[in-house]
Amino acid sequence: MAQDPPYRCSHIRTTHGTIDTPALIPVVAASYGIWDRWMEGAHPAPWDVSQAVLLSLYHILPYAHRDEVFSKGIHATLGTSRPVWIDSGGFQYMKKGVELDPLEVLSYQHKSGCDIGVTFDYPLTPALAQDERERRLDRSVSAANEMLAHNTDMALYGAVHGSTPEEITAYTTRLDTGFDGFGIGSLVPRKNSHEHLTSIIHAVRSQTDDPLHAFGITGFPALFALSYLGVDTFDSWTYVVAAAYKEYVHPLTLSRQKNLRSLHALPACECPICAEHGLADFLQPTSESEMLLAMHNLYVFLDEMANIREAASHGELEAYILSRGEQNARILRAFKIAKKTSSLPATRPLLRGDRHRAGR
Ligand SMILES: [Zn+2]
Repeated sequence: MAQDPPYRCSHIRTTHGTIDTPALIPVVAASYGIWDRWMEGAHPAPWDVSQAVLLSLYHILPYAHRDEVFSKGIHATLGTSRPVWIDSGGFQYMKKGVELDPLEVLSYQHKSGCDIGVTFDYPLTPALAQDERERRLDRSVSAANEMLAHNTDMALYGAVHGSTPEEITAYTTRLDTGFDGFGIGSLVPRKNSHEHLTSIIHAVRSQTDDPLHAFGITGFPALFALSYLGVDTFDSWTYVVAAAYKEYVHPLTLSRQKNLRSLHALPACECPICAEHGLADFLQPTSESEMLLAMHNLYVFLDEMANIREAASHGELEAYILSRGEQNARILRAFKIAKKTSSLPATRPLLRGDRHRAGR
């Protein structure tokens, strides 16, 4: 029996404009030196070419410009009038063994003037003992509900965690009503298991029509598979990390081309960077070279997400992914897993957000 496909196109409206989905939101890692260079304005920056950008408090708080972010606002600091997300940085703080007060996180988000904030969380890792896992889930729920209760007019996404669909369902039923969307965390430690990723996303999507963001999932196989399952937004800093390692995202195969020095030429690319620059420009040991390569990489990601939106808007996403899978077997494998997962019985709707809130 034919089923409606699970994917969708939506429009997330913010005070700084609308984000058409599915969309990739580039991560701006404030502690990296090239952020300063981009802020100088002499070179096109990620926020100039993407629909929105995402920053983490983990990178802002130790940063030289932190006072500027909280006094002038994040938009003025970056020099952008487009939407900005600020993530609490729970995943990075967990790795350092540091915790922030959830209300302090909310205060920082408010002071920054960001469009969308995400609640502070206590992510899960696969090896956690049961009691510690439950403790972290409890604290993530409490932080989310506490921040929601004190939020004013900023859009607030509730962080969602769970290591199984059942744990996800138990978690989401404890969240209060009123979040503007949900950010699914704890995915990164198991990001290479597409069975795990798709089962978690399917569990959340089957409970709500509200916007869903998948944290830290950036590989093309997962971007295709999770877009198919109805994820609206993703964040990625692969574009800039790959550039730091002098890796070029191949515009056709979508894989990361390593050992650029061993090549005589790059594959054809239609992005504005490659229209003016070539292999030699990407190989220089300079910030400018790294910025150029990062922007090429970002264009490949953004173009591909635009292709996903276009195909999804015509109800042809499956055919598009299958065509992309002809050049990349990993894309095909991940999609087959997503398709199989999407046919599993959905859990009944449990999240109680108003699906028709003003602005969406
Ligand atoms: Zn290019």
